[in-house]
Amino acid sequence: TTRIERHHFDVVVIGAGGAGLRAAIEARQAGKRTAIISKSLFGKAHTVMAEGGAAAAMGNVNSNDNWMVHFRDTMRGGKFLNNFRMAELHAKEAPERIWELETYGALFDRTKDGRISQRNFGGHEYPRLAHVGDRTGLELIRTLQQKIVSLQQEDKKEFGNYDARIRVFAETTITELLLDGDRVAGAFGYYRESGEFVLFEAPAIVLATGGVGKSYKVTSNSWEYTGDGHALALRAGATLINMEFLQFHPTGMVWPPSVKGILVTESVRGDGGILKNSEGKRFMFDYVPDVFRKQYAETEEEADRWYTDPDNNRRPPELLPRDEVARAINSEVKAGRGTPAGGVYLDIASRLPAEEIRRRLPSMYHQFKELADVDITKQPMDVGPTCHYVMGGVEVEPDTAAAAGTVQGLFAAGEVSGGMHGSNRLGGNSLSDLLVFGKRAGEFAAAYVDGLARRPKVHESAAADAVEYALAPLARTEGENPYHLQQDLQAVMGDLVGIIRRKGELEEALVKLAELRRRLHDVRATGGRRYNPGWHLALDLRNMLVVSECTALAALEREESRGGHTREDFPGMDARWRTVNLVCSLDGDKVRLEHQPLPTMRTDLVQLFDRAELAKYLTDEELVAFDGGKA
Ligand code: FAD
Repeated sequence: TTRIERHHFDVVVIGAGGAGLRAAIEARQAGKRTAIISKSLFGKAHTVMAEGGAAAAMGNVNSNDNWMVHFRDTMRGGKFLNNFRMAELHAKEAPERIWELETYGALFDRTKDGRISQRNFGGHEYPRLAHVGDRTGLELIRTLQQKIVSLQQEDKKEFGNYDARIRVFAETTITELLLDGDRVAGAFGYYRESGEFVLFEAPAIVLATGGVGKSYKVTSNSWEYTGDGHALALRAGATLINMEFLQFHPTGMVWPPSVKGILVTESVRGDGGILKNSEGKRFMFDYVPDVFRKQYAETEEEADRWYTDPDNNRRPPELLPRDEVARAINSEVKAGRGTPAGGVYLDIASRLPAEEIRRRLPSMYHQFKELADVDITKQPMDVGPTCHYVMGGVEVEPDTAAAAGTVQGLFAAGEVSGGMHGSNRLGGNSLSDLLVFGKRAGEFAAAYVDGLARRPKVHESAAADAVEYALAPLARTEGENPYHLQQDLQAVMGDLVGIIRRKGELEEALVKLAELRRRLHDVRATGGRRYNPGWHLALDLRNMLVVSECTALAALEREESRGGHTREDFPGMDARWRTVNLVCSLDGDKVRLEHQPLPTMRTDLVQLFDRAELAKYLTDEELVAFDGGKA
């Protein structure tokens, strides 16, 4: 039989981004023996890449800010599809989580009077983002890791062993959750370097695995983001919600192919960069939607004057919200006016002196010079939309972060969870989300363990099945290269389930996804178990395929356009769809999609909004109920 290394913990946290680390700290502080597992190196996660900051209504820069304003902004950003209770908890608790980070040693930028500084960001009414220059995520991870080290030092003093109560397993991928009846009993995976198997027995598991972007041809996400947590949850009996909602950032690199999707910061446009199609036309003027027409310039002359005189001119249309710009670029390319590489031109070279560009955008200058051999002071950049963030995820109980569905002992926080952001996330609300719900997940996982009368047991047959499944791609003597399958999946999702969706294409996507799922059974990894990325991908593909199917099914079902879901055949927002969450579950091998009514917002929260604003989102029946509630 194949050797399996075994460990026993109270709480196993899968994922070492902000959500996972914050959960682990909380579980350890509750006295639980806690493991942190990460697929890549410890410290490398998307959280590190976040730049802008963490949104928290501390009111340091504008004292009018408070949790109610933040709550309103978040609900508007999500087009009222957010789980209201999560948005409420998030808005109320984010300031405390930020101040707490300072006690762990975080050094945020300061206001003149020495408080944590806060910056403006899209969709936030007041300056609200606590930040550290443009590397806030790095500071967040550094601080959380430092806190973990300090807890380990305490444990060394008490038990003579740094790992006594928190142990980190880096470069370790979890492939299965193991159940005892409907309870979580453990997690199974492998060490990436040696290919050896490892089994963690634990009564509580926190999923903090981040996003799903690697199923798309063009994405800002790195290789780890294959929707593992989403798929692990589904297979364990949990449910996913909001899977049709993905955020596409308008400007990612499109050339060369090896760096396709890497983010090009919005500051390029903020500093004067303009978008042009292959005919040299500054096309964004053709894409200003009616609701924004009053705020955006109508001529190039007016737009150009805005940079030096914003009070007397309107903003250039390049600075429309992200989803609008992404859709416009997509339309130009589809109409045959794209660049040969399939993007559009982002030109800063003709707008600012070379010296100025190098001074204002040093990292973009280097990024293009090194990766694309393009000198952005002389040539335009080639850019296009890139899949950036998934709003959908594990359906959770808002207060405890416990996964919904049939499974117990499973918790989820951060990008892998769903509900908090509704149909669209505001910038800066992810870092605060990680802290608020990471803490809650750790706290309630620990409480769950305390409440257990009996520890669930891992069944040996389940461990043996996990081994067998993991080894299958290596055992095949012939079969398909996993990279081909991944490419085909990325093409299906990018071309047919991308920014703009249509019924026929979504149906075609589902047929193709079913075919890809059949091909998965023939995927073959050559070579052995020692550091074998082809083998790892073969195992990731199962997750990518099931999660992609959830997205395609939900996208086909939702016949309206809202936030990160745009249907060309149903271009408007439909109030009847606002009352519906689409919920995915697994029935054997089959993805099931069900309609579930959105929880009704508490009256005190509803009353934070004007009736006129609510009328834009709510159904007539909901408005009647609201009027009744007020009377
Ligand atoms: P992550 O930080 O993504 O961490 C996931 C962890 O799970 C990793 O440790 C990974 O190795 C591990 N993992 C995954 N699968 C497995 C498995 N099977 N087994 C074991 N471990 C696994 N948000 C903002 O608010 N502001 C910004 O400015 C911002 N900028 C961004 C820039 C870029 C380029 C990107 C990609 C994202 C940005 N975001 C930003 C989004 C934000 O960074 C992420 O949504 C957030 O950091 C997710 O945190 P998390 O803790 O949920 O997961």
